Amino acid sequence: MKNLNKSIIKCKKCPRLVQFRNKISKEKRKQYMNEDYWGKPVTGFGDINGKMLFVGLAPAAHGATRTGRVFTGDKSSDFLYKCLFKAKISNQDTSNNLNDGLKLNNAFITLALKCVPPGDKPNVEELNNCSNFFNHEINNLKNLGIIIALGKIAFDTCFYFYKKNFNLNKRLIFGHGKIYNLPNNIKLVGCYHPSPRNVNTGRINQKKMVSLFKKIKKLN
Ligand code: SF4
Repeated sequence: MKNLNKSIIKCKKCPRLVQFRNKISKEKRKQYMNEDYWGKPVTGFGDINGKMLFVGLAPAAHGATRTGRVFTGDKSSDFLYKCLFKAKISNQDTSNNLNDGLKLNNAFITLALKCVPPGDKPNVEELNNCSNFFNHEINNLKNLGIIIALGKIAFDTCFYFYKKNFNLNKRLIFGHGKIYNLPNNIKLVGCYHPSPRNVNTGRINQKKMVSLFKKIKKLN
């Protein structure tokens, strides 16, 4: 995984995204003006021997693009880690920066796209470019059994990835808590994204999320 991560961090394959991540890191958000933004692609994080793989869509502009670690330093990660901690998948209920001591238990977390896209909307070419890294990550996770897709776009990305690489010929529909069987004995689980919008509208709450995470832990 170390060599893979080195290649990810150096990648400049998508001109639009390289330009955007540089722009964000230079302009910065007011409250982080004194910080040096990471400003590069964001790699996966966690236990490479883990059974569970959490997949988000892309780094947040002022979260992972600033801190350099997936789901770190923004409101989505605040909510996600409260839930992961309650389900005993993480050793703490916060994810603030690279040196905060965070560890995942039997789980790895990554992004379908390693660079932040404008408006959180990647194009097909960018997703295709980055799918090679996602492929390598999956191959490096030798004990992988369950993929938890955080949000519909991450779910569809995982689905298209398997469709392309394994000739999957059925349509999988995203739904919170829906579980599908994928090739190689892997299960794909749909889960609402832990975004402030989903939390504030009540679509997702800690109880619902923790209950799904606890259920996932028991899957074989
Ligand atoms: S999105 Fe992926 S392929 Fe595109 S520049 Fe970033 S790391 Fe490279």
